[in-house]
Amino acid sequence: MDIKGNILMERYELGRLLGQGTFAKVYYARNLTTGQSVAIKVIDKEKVLRVGLINQIKREISVMKRVRHPNILQLYEVMATKTKIYFALEYAKGGELFDKVANGKLKEQIARKYFQQLINAVDICHSRGVYHRDLKPENLLLDENENLKVSDFGLSALAESKHQDGLLHTTCGTPAYVAPEVITRRGYDGDKADVWSCGVILYVLLAGYLPFHDSNLVEMYRKIGKSEFRFPNWFQPEVRKLILRILDPNPVNRITIPKIKENSWFRKGNVTKEPSSDKASGSCSTYLAESQDLMKPSNMNAFDIISLSPGFDLTALFEEPRQKTEARLTICRRASVIITKLEEIGKCLGMKVSKREAGLLKLEAMQEGKKGILSINAEIFELTPSFHLVEVKKSNGDTLEYQKVLNEGLRPGLQDVIWNSQGGEQEQQEAPQQQQDQKS
Ligand code: AMP
Repeated sequence: MDIKGNILMERYELGRLLGQGTFAKVYYARNLTTGQSVAIKVIDKEKVLRVGLINQIKREISVMKRVRHPNILQLYEVMATKTKIYFALEYAKGGELFDKVANGKLKEQIARKYFQQLINAVDICHSRGVYHRDLKPENLLLDENENLKVSDFGLSALAESKHQDGLLHTTCGTPAYVAPEVITRRGYDGDKADVWSCGVILYVLLAGYLPFHDSNLVEMYRKIGKSEFRFPNWFQPEVRKLILRILDPNPVNRITIPKIKENSWFRKGNVTKEPSSDKASGSCSTYLAESQDLMKPSNMNAFDIISLSPGFDLTALFEEPRQKTEARLTICRRASVIITKLEEIGKCLGMKVSKREAGLLKLEAMQEGKKGILSINAEIFELTPSFHLVEVKKSNGDTLEYQKVLNEGLRPGLQDVIWNSQGGEQEQQEAPQQQQDQKS
């Protein structure tokens, strides 16, 4: 039995119902060991299977595992039984941002704070190749300090699901917040579509109602297609200008996130200082050099570690088959040593290596391969300070070229420090080496 009384998996004490979506019920819960408040999202597997949404759920899991940000709702763990999937999520005590707007428009500086946090969260997602695609106030929750938490990645698409033309092709999302190019089903860029939704959200926060609204859906789509809307008289000229740049019906001319971040209205007040998520690889090492903490690997909890052991790995239940495009290497060295080693290996292989936030390194080929530029992410997770897990994943390019780099470059280069590895061809288990560099 997974729930005994109101105890789930002997780990969580379930409380009141927080909310209900189409496929999920969300309960307040308390971690019995730590006392931490969490939200447990319960999904009926059969219901999901029946409507063919299992891929959506799989995606939600892998996206949430990949993205860590103060304004993005964190997924702590995933549990599953034969019939149900349970997500233990960060508890957003402040409820939905939508409820605030339902009581009327927000003051300009409050709306700006939420908009800044939204743009920062979306920017990080985009830099990880993740597009939300269903941004709307209902998906924006608040914590106890009134900070924004973007939730519900159920409809998001990873960059990998792009077609060969590089555009997303699934039409989804809620009409009022959806970009014109999504409606016309011409294929669209997830980042441009998200920027549009952020513009609609900003309008709603400041106005208290939607910019595009009509009881006739066709008429509403027409208005969206032409970006036909009016500003209420309390909108200041500066914010009007910004919204017009965001709600540009032509995605090519629409303002980008870096430009929004430079905008004078956006920058007013307390803009949360954020690590840049610049996609240009070169610039990342600069900010990382300034702040060593950013390269600090993410910590793994016991569940993460257990779930990595093949016998307990729940991911097979949810994730796409791996197709040998990722591998996990357990390495008994400090993070700084691993980073240096990866940089050296990259150099030997003639690849560009750039450091990103939270222990992520990107290795990119200098020349086009069979399927474009080969790009590999190496993400370092801390198990103990001198024991790390390195998750190697192909993010672009040809799988055979990736496997060659993994098996003929990365594995041999890390040979003397690898303790255990999973994924790819060379499974191995060796005794840990003397940890000479523990004090380094
Ligand atoms: P969802 O199925 O994710 O749309 O969730 C349905 C509703 O449950 C949301 O609209 C929220 O009101 C509530 N909810 C979802 N996740 C959380 C959470 N982590 N903390 C607090 N409330 C939540």
